[in-house]
Amino acid sequence: MRNVSVLVQEAGESRERFLQPLWDLRLGYEDWLMSPLFPVLLSIVCYFGQCVPFMLIDMYCSHQKWYRKYKIQPEKEVTLPQIWDTLSLTFWNHVLFIMPASIAQWIWTPPTPLPELAPTLWEFVWQQAAALLIFDFQYTIWHITHHKIRFLYRHIHAVHHRYHCPFSWVTQYLHPWELIIIGFLTTTNTWFFNCHCLTIWSYMLLSITISVEDHIGFDFPLSTHRLTFGFFGGAPKHDMHHQKPLTNYQPFFNHLDVWFGTYCPPMSAGGVKSKALLDYERKHKETKKQA
Ligand SMILES: [Zn+2]
Ligand SMILES: [Zn+2]
Repeated sequence: MRNVSVLVQEAGESRERFLQPLWDLRLGYEDWLMSPLFPVLLSIVCYFGQCVPFMLIDMYCSHQKWYRKYKIQPEKEVTLPQIWDTLSLTFWNHVLFIMPASIAQWIWTPPTPLPELAPTLWEFVWQQAAALLIFDFQYTIWHITHHKIRFLYRHIHAVHHRYHCPFSWVTQYLHPWELIIIGFLTTTNTWFFNCHCLTIWSYMLLSITISVEDHIGFDFPLSTHRLTFGFFGGAPKHDMHHQKPLTNYQPFFNHLDVWFGTYCPPMSAGGVKSKALLDYERKHKETKKQA
């Protein structure tokens, strides 16, 4: 039995924690939240919940003025066969790989412990930022390797590059091995910091949201890259990776691509090429001619 003084101390601390009211919403749903299946279901609902609205926008708004204004490659159309193709692979990846892995997790993983106290706001923020930076670094290395080694590109990563003009369902249009690696890295990165489960769930949602945003194919006025002083790459930068696959390997941020010399200035809303991009293209054309 827990010591009474510990309970009194926790009650005092819980009143001081900013996230405690959010964490207290768990009360009454503990059995659901403790299940190892909960994070899997949360990820699936979050992914589909974010992709479906953009699919509907691509299907029904492509003739509208604002659509062409904010689309990064406005001359390219998202067609029904493309949506069907990406949805089919997403479906089979879920049925053949994610579902068996989830069932195994359900059988062998113990229930998630739910502490009484919420994480502190500081822990909640820095642990997610650190996990995102670590994932970003790990995936960049994996990504470069899978572009540089022909065999790995042809048999694994080429699946993701079937589309040169991304749309929401391209996010998880992946070879199963790439999907497994991404799932493994996303899950294990929070183990470094012994994170609170609220932090883990939030980090999972955040990384799915950033990945989907990378692939929506739009450059909106309030997109992440416009609000973060160039730290986030956002949709325009990853869109450029699908157009020029030997550039912009970093999935979330910009700093590694700048350090490695693989950064290509992105194309903006409406297919506008900045002076930096025009200079980049001119320079690379000249280098090719000289070679
Ligand atoms: Zn992509
Ligand atoms: Zn790639």
